[in-house]
Amino acid sequence: MIKINLSINQIERINSIIDNDIDSFLWKGYNECVLEVLRSNKLTQTLELIGTKEKLKENCKIFGRKKLLAFGNKVKTVFEIESANNLTIKEKIKKEFTKQYTNFSHRACAYEILSIINASVCPYCNRLYTFTVEEGKKTRPEFDHFYSKDDYPWLAISIYNLIPSCGICNKSKSSKDTINLLYPYEESFEEYDIHFNLIDTVPLLLDEMNIKKKRLVKMCSKNADASRIINKHNNCFKLEDIYNEHREFIIDLIKRIYIFNDDCIESIYQSYNDIIDDIDDLRSMSLGTLPYHDYLNTPLAKLTNDLIEQMLYDD
Ligand SMILES: [Zn+2]
Repeated sequence: MIKINLSINQIERINSIIDNDIDSFLWKGYNECVLEVLRSNKLTQTLELIGTKEKLKENCKIFGRKKLLAFGNKVKTVFEIESANNLTIKEKIKKEFTKQYTNFSHRACAYEILSIINASVCPYCNRLYTFTVEEGKKTRPEFDHFYSKDDYPWLAISIYNLIPSCGICNKSKSSKDTINLLYPYEESFEEYDIHFNLIDTVPLLLDEMNIKKKRLVKMCSKNADASRIINKHNNCFKLEDIYNEHREFIIDLIKRIYIFNDDCIESIYQSYNDIIDDIDDLRSMSLGTLPYHDYLNTPLAKLTNDLIEQMLYDD
């Protein structure tokens, strides 16, 4: 899990696009569809929570998993009491919110928001590119609903409940249960000291006979709370299994890290410091990684950085 670290400026720009879209498009459809179902079924307390344009704006701009969940559960409690668990009303509300989300997701503002977020690699897997192209035949990442539309239809159009992700992760994350699943706008593996590490020692891994038979990497952490998080992400996204499919990349990386150790880099730097300003640039060039700390824009950057840390700097 890679963090989407939005700045205050990015959030302000996104929220301003949301406000404009609600004024120009979303409110009309929301009022005529979602609120009409609530009105015709006399769900007055639910209407009090989500029934005005200002409430809609607040809802769309809720930031953070605690706030999203608190709001989601608050509406859920009131809605379920008022609808007396009427499945027909439930289905209607889900359908109408889904319609509002679908309308939003095709509009230019969805592409604008994604361009501001600027996550060019999927935060869930850190493997696949998720570029947004706004011109012509547009393309964009998929939106994963962190809290599902089934459980919380009223979070279907909350922008920070929408995680820009690759199609594989969006489809893999079939579990609606988010316990132990990290929320990318606030959390990452780094905070739980979770790393991809080599399973065996380098000489053993470089023996090709062994490489063919063995898994190369596993997720691990010294943090006591991390094992439940690792298990959850493996269940949701099959991360360890998928990472072990990147066999050729990992073998090549191990070899490069092994060869271009600090002594080797220092020696090359002494020979070429007239054309290379920074030894870290040389290290990146040698390891074949462009700034490898930029996880959100570089596929497999976390794996790369973790293996470098493990091979070069771990005791
Ligand atoms: Zn992904």
